[in-house]
Amino acid sequence: MSTYEPVLLARIHKEQSHTLDSYLADGGYESFKKALGMTPVEVTTLVKDSGLRGRGGAGFPTGLKWTFLPKDHPGPIYLAVNGDESEPGTFNNRILLEKDPHQILEGIAISCYAIRSNTAYLYLRYEYGAAWRALQQAVAECYEKGIFGKNVFGSGFDLDVRLHRGAAAYICGEETGLIESLEGKRAWPRIKPPFPAIEGLFRKPTIVNNIETMACVTQILKRGVEWFKSIGVPPDPNNPRDAGSYGPKLYCLSGHVNKPGCYEVPLGITARQLIEEYGGGVPGGRGIKAVVPGGISMGFLAPSELDTPLDFNGPGKVGCLGLGTAAVVVIDDQTSMVDVVYNTARFFAHESCGQCTPCREGTNWMQRILHRIRSGQGRMEDLDLLLEVSNGIGMMPGTTICGLADGAGWPVKNAIRKFRSEFEDYIQSGRSTIKPCELIGAH
Ligand code: NAD
Ligand code: SF4
Repeated sequence: MSTYEPVLLARIHKEQSHTLDSYLADGGYESFKKALGMTPVEVTTLVKDSGLRGRGGAGFPTGLKWTFLPKDHPGPIYLAVNGDESEPGTFNNRILLEKDPHQILEGIAISCYAIRSNTAYLYLRYEYGAAWRALQQAVAECYEKGIFGKNVFGSGFDLDVRLHRGAAAYICGEETGLIESLEGKRAWPRIKPPFPAIEGLFRKPTIVNNIETMACVTQILKRGVEWFKSIGVPPDPNNPRDAGSYGPKLYCLSGHVNKPGCYEVPLGITARQLIEEYGGGVPGGRGIKAVVPGGISMGFLAPSELDTPLDFNGPGKVGCLGLGTAAVVVIDDQTSMVDVVYNTARFFAHESCGQCTPCREGTNWMQRILHRIRSGQGRMEDLDLLLEVSNGIGMMPGTTICGLADGAGWPVKNAIRKFRSEFEDYIQSGRSTIKPCELIGAH
């Protein structure tokens, strides 16, 4: 077991950890005060030098994103903090928000100062009721104590933080869908470019950052660049485009493990270490058939790939889409991969916003074909058809507005490539894993 001591989750088991009194007793908002003593450029440079990469899924360098803002823009500039955590298996933001909302709010305050923004919007997933209540209390406490509002800590800096509850749809977490939703519209993603840093909320420059990224900003200001860079994985010397995978990460472990939970460990832990050392292995001593490395869009690790480091590069090297949200889902050897992939396809068919024909139609067709296979009615040519739709020869990837289509297609083609014999077995034997309850008007 790693000797790493959690930092982002250090306070979550304390009594009343969500209150301002408890946070101040632990040195809370000192990092914000420290930032106010620096220039915004200095704070941005610090975050850039730390190598922090966004924790929402894409791993884009945070400080670099901040530098994309137009230099002499008269404002307003906005910070939109993405708490619309909807990738299945992902719950790291929920824990931070419920148990330590001030750590996030401090990161928001620091980030706003760095990007010269006086207004932040925190967009919270609708279903997160407890987090919503904790945030409302925390924001009210900050206004009451002069941490938010006019001239905070006598610095001349004004800061407003507004909470917005989401609309219970996966697509609200896509950054431009989120922006549309904040503007009061249907969360239809926008075509990029322009990226939000140039034209975002209310057509003004906007930085969209994830909740866990904000917690990292707080800790980088508190503990410094050297501390952050002492954790994780340096850049791959054979890959000049790699920015490294520095810092701690919250991994959400679920599925067939004895001890599911949210674990803070250095970036780069392997799936096997996480499952065995933290998750206590698979119940009943059963074997592992597959592991989702970071949310279902990312595809699957086969049993022979469990020593893959779960950093920003590792999963990509074994055919997954990436680290994604670091939501690690364990699938035991009693589980049907055809059922797993069908559930994945059904999810994306339901969540596609429908703007782009390849995504709207492709996700629907993938669901239907997979349903046919798992009901014992599949044909061998269905596998090529599935690959064609998911691989999208001239269809899905790259021809749609947002990444949902790529994320929907990837697990399907990845599973057929890694677990093809199981799909063939369904087709050849005509076996079905449809449950009686599913036959009642579900399809
Ligand atoms: P992306 O790579 O398109 O963008 C990442 C970020 O960098 C964005 O903020 C984007 O605006 C910015 N960016 C990229 N290039 C830029 C440029 N040239 N100029 C200015 N800004 C630029 O990825 P994305 O579509 O934002 O995110 C996809 C990821 O989201 C997926 O990998 C998935 O893991 C994750 N995801 C997370 C959840 C969740 O619940 N946390 C849900 C769904 C998806
Ligand atoms: Fe909507 Fe899919 Fe197009 Fe994204 S890719 S905008 S979810 S239809």
